Amino acid sequence: MIADVADIDGRRDEGWIEQLLAAPEFVGEDIEGAERQPVAVPFPNAADIDFAITTQRTLAAEALKTVHAQLGQRYNPIINGASVETGEVVESVNPAKPSEIVGKLGLASQEQADQAIAAAKAAFLVWAATPAKERAAILRRAAEIMEARRHELNAWMVYEVGKPLGQADPEVSEAIDFCRYYADEMERLDAGYAYDYPGETNRYRYFPRGLAVVISPWNFPLAIATGMTVAALVTGNCTILKPAENSAVIAAKLAEILLEAGMPAGVFQYLPARGSTVGAHLVNHPDVHMIAFTGSREVGCRIYADAAQWRPGQRHLKRVVAEMGGKNAIIIDESADLDQAVQGVVYSAFGFSGQKCSACSRAIVVASVYDTFVHRLVEATRSLNVGDPAQPSTKVGPVIDAQAQATIQGYIEKGKAEATLALAIPAPETGYFVGPTVFTDVKPDAVIAQEEIFGPVLAVIKAQDFEDALRIANDTDYGLTGGLYSRTPSHIERVQTEFAVGNLYINRGITGAVVSRHPFGGGKMSGVGSKAGGPDYLLQFLEPRHVSENVQRQGFAPIEGVD
Ligand code: NAD
Repeated sequence: MIADVADIDGRRDEGWIEQLLAAPEFVGEDIEGAERQPVAVPFPNAADIDFAITTQRTLAAEALKTVHAQLGQRYNPIINGASVETGEVVESVNPAKPSEIVGKLGLASQEQADQAIAAAKAAFLVWAATPAKERAAILRRAAEIMEARRHELNAWMVYEVGKPLGQADPEVSEAIDFCRYYADEMERLDAGYAYDYPGETNRYRYFPRGLAVVISPWNFPLAIATGMTVAALVTGNCTILKPAENSAVIAAKLAEILLEAGMPAGVFQYLPARGSTVGAHLVNHPDVHMIAFTGSREVGCRIYADAAQWRPGQRHLKRVVAEMGGKNAIIIDESADLDQAVQGVVYSAFGFSGQKCSACSRAIVVASVYDTFVHRLVEATRSLNVGDPAQPSTKVGPVIDAQAQATIQGYIEKGKAEATLALAIPAPETGYFVGPTVFTDVKPDAVIAQEEIFGPVLAVIKAQDFEDALRIANDTDYGLTGGLYSRTPSHIERVQTEFAVGNLYINRGITGAVVSRHPFGGGKMSGVGSKAGGPDYLLQFLEPRHVSENVQRQGFAPIEGVD
């Protein structure tokens, strides 16, 4: 079998068989005679709950009950440490049962946004001067609180965004990891760099930018909001979090946690508000120094353009970090292990109803295995349980709201006109459900193969060969995630340089990035900025300053009363 794979490849790489057969824990180049060493873990990630353990399932069920009893409460903006009343209130509902109100949200007005900006400005100097160690300690305390409230946070995600329990829990782990990882990173960067010459000291140090506005999406309501917010805070920026309207209750829980952990009033503020009005007002405000945004391409591009405009009173250029959409593809070549490929594509396409920015929405399959793959993919997809995300057996829950449901259904109608509908799983009538849908014989330039569909719709495209598959995969505006299932070394090697995505996954699913292990973020029209959960991320929130001092003193002149 191994020889066959080498034949497909048409070449034999020295030592690749040894690499394939090496024990997983083996580290190092020299197989023969080298000592076995444990894999070095640079950052210890938080562990997800093991729902196979009965007590954990009992705790999860209890948390769902406790949180259910708290649905419908009011959440107001928190400005300068105080909860403030608002003129406008909207309801955030359970997408699986829209009659169930998860929370009533007071939406901030523009005047209240201005008050938040004024409070942030007033708090900035003290926060910027707070030692990085102290700021990092607050993040670590927040991580502890999240760990202690893990089951509860999972339950809020089940109710507010319809995320199945098993997929909500890794999101809490990710939020915890962001707190701990960025705390460590800030301490690393705080040391700065020193390059001394005889008679001259040189210091390279980092300073906060000022006021950061964080604009977060609903699909990772805890992890993404946490990641962007704590990155801005730990680097010494005063931060206003404007969450997505339909996940603002979970963001309110994050706000509770950050305040309890010790974020001072004015330093962190929670500002639920309408994106198109108050969100845009924050972006345009001359006192804002940077915007960390995650969301759609349309809104991200607009923020990027608006932030570039100089406004009267502004003494700086704004920095924008924008993480946007994707049209992610997995290539399946003729040497792929189809058992692995089918499982990976199904999970990547339909996990959280395809509402992950990293979700697979195109499977590009080489002609010689196309029919076999499609047959197995359809059967595997058929086995997915669609329904209430609170049930442990549910694999696919609802989509976020009626508008999303209608948009996805519109794309499904378009798909019926331009491709073959291979499978449409029926979905519950009540709630915003869309059943997993598979289209086959999709042309690479079809609308459903080019536009981001934020839902459980997969386009399967036939490619003549690997070369053709790679060309099709890259023929998109986006460049977020991508995958390859293959056992051909040259294909595995080529995608690493030629597949234009920010995160490439080989012989595994393409979702579920883990902080530090898989720094995450895309290029092309998928985003601008350095990878979240990676070593460059915090640099975007900082301004470097270099100081050279001549220390060949010619004497000094003390001033009375000054050290
Ligand atoms: P969205 O763009 O509709 O909203 C995102 C945020 O922007 C919300 O808080 C919203 O209120 C705010 N907003 C809307 N208009 C605004 C404006 N004019 N000015 C300022 N703020 C404004 O996105 P969404 O529906 O919440 O999220 C889904 C999208 O996010 C998908 O396209 C998905 O691919 C993308 N996403 C990308 C990543 C990534 O890391 N690349 C991660 C998650 C989600």
